[in-house]
Amino acid sequence: MDVEREILETDILIVGAGPAGLSAAYRIASQVERDESLEMPEILIMEKGAFVGAHALSGAVMDPVGIKELIPDYLEKSVPLEAEVVSERLYSLSETGSFQFPFTPPSLNNHGCHVISLNKFTAWMGEQVEALGMDIFAGLAGSELLVEDGRVVGVQTVDMGLDKQGNRKPNFEPGSIIKAKLVILCEGVHGSLMRHAFEKIPQLVADSLPQAYLTGVKEVWQVPEGRVKPGDVVHTMGWPQPNHEYGGGWLYGMADNLVSVGFAVGLNSPDPTNDPHMKFQRYKSHPVIKELLEGGSMLHYGAKTIPDNGFHSMPKLYHDGLLLCGDSAGFLNPARLKGIHLAIKSGILAADAAIEALKSNDFSAQSLSRYETSFKSSWAYNELYKTRNFHAGFKGGLLAGMFHGAVQIVTGGKGLFNRRVNDADHSYMLTTEEYKDRFGEAPVKASIKFDNDYSYDKLTDVYKSGTQHEEEQPSHLVISDLDICNNRCTEEYGNPCQHFCPAAVYNMVDDPHRPGKKELELTPSNCVHCKTCDIADPYQVIRWVTPQGGEGPNYTNL
Ligand code: SF4
Repeated sequence: MDVEREILETDILIVGAGPAGLSAAYRIASQVERDESLEMPEILIMEKGAFVGAHALSGAVMDPVGIKELIPDYLEKSVPLEAEVVSERLYSLSETGSFQFPFTPPSLNNHGCHVISLNKFTAWMGEQVEALGMDIFAGLAGSELLVEDGRVVGVQTVDMGLDKQGNRKPNFEPGSIIKAKLVILCEGVHGSLMRHAFEKIPQLVADSLPQAYLTGVKEVWQVPEGRVKPGDVVHTMGWPQPNHEYGGGWLYGMADNLVSVGFAVGLNSPDPTNDPHMKFQRYKSHPVIKELLEGGSMLHYGAKTIPDNGFHSMPKLYHDGLLLCGDSAGFLNPARLKGIHLAIKSGILAADAAIEALKSNDFSAQSLSRYETSFKSSWAYNELYKTRNFHAGFKGGLLAGMFHGAVQIVTGGKGLFNRRVNDADHSYMLTTEEYKDRFGEAPVKASIKFDNDYSYDKLTDVYKSGTQHEEEQPSHLVISDLDICNNRCTEEYGNPCQHFCPAAVYNMVDDPHRPGKKELELTPSNCVHCKTCDIADPYQVIRWVTPQGGEGPNYTNL
């Protein structure tokens, strides 16, 4: 598009006001406050959500090690913690039965951790950053990572005011070009600028295994007084996941009789009808979970993907003009299914590297490599290294995973198969015919009738996510070959997008031009920005691109 764009310049551009990006900003400002020889650099923090925390969602039980290091007096600063963990239970579930383990494995020992709402916690972190004099530009979304002569030089922001066909409306505002000496990319899971980085600078992922993802689907419930104590932590494995698939559930007691309940489903499933939302709705019907929710009401909903392959799928963390942090860089411990403390630590380490680069005015890869060097001597590296083979241990199913997990504990994480190679999640999906050959019958999605007491359809849940998008704009789900969706995918896979999307964005409807045939209809305004479609589509013809800034979910208490 031929258009004149405003050019802004800054020293450091932080993309994403989540735990990693806000930690980087806080650390730089607090170090400058402490050291008179340092000058405060210009920092621009951009966040695609309508407010800080709008897109932040996690279980969440947070290990405080990261926040203690960043803000040692965090407890005196009215940090919004729901509760300290007071009890923990682990169950193995079958469809109607359950077995409570007499102990919790070390990776699920959450003693000393806090139950939090990540979106409240992130909003609080934003306030701490603003108190140090920095502005956060919420509602500002990046559309392209700018790379010149192999060096990252900034970000172009999303054009506002285009119609569905891409024509300019009267309120058209071209996106700006933000040039920066250093871009710190902290977009969260499977970010679109992160994808640009990996495509434009392939050496970032040349030595990494493909990431393995889960889709986590979550609701927050208000339950009767005293039903679930704040800080009660329940984890489950097994049903409704079949034993050959990866995933599990949780229920955490929050303050004020609120409960976080959710289920995470591996996207390397062979099943083309894999539906994380449906599995979660069934999960709540299990007696162990149902009796805790009974008489309560569902208040909030959200979904997001989780980067779960750990250490071996982390990219190179630096390049000329670029640092990668948080979920974007795979800072997540798969054995604990925790990443907030690691995201914070990555932000701290990136900030320290940025300060040194500012001192020498050298933002080359060589200068920024101190980020990776300091990561390698940190507790975060030790933690990630020890769990490096955890996810891969489950390749043979749940029982094999438990066995490998035990061997990995006694071998310092090595286990029987160090660095077991995996493929991208979508490649594990079987066609209907392949599925029949392997399992003896065609895939049939187990489902329940939504009763609006314990279980809800996708549209009801989407309403509870607060998601909003301007309808009259180009679709942010870009399908590169619709013919594949309407013909080949229908025949081969039965259109898995209508199952795996937890927000009912993809629907197969009657094709008015082809009697008896269906065509794909998109409702992008429902999208909760989880990125499942971009990851799980077996033909990789779906691309999630950033819609206008300030849109998407508006999470509360999630
Ligand atoms: Fe998630 Fe894609 Fe559905 Fe949006 S359209 S909610 S990113 S699966």
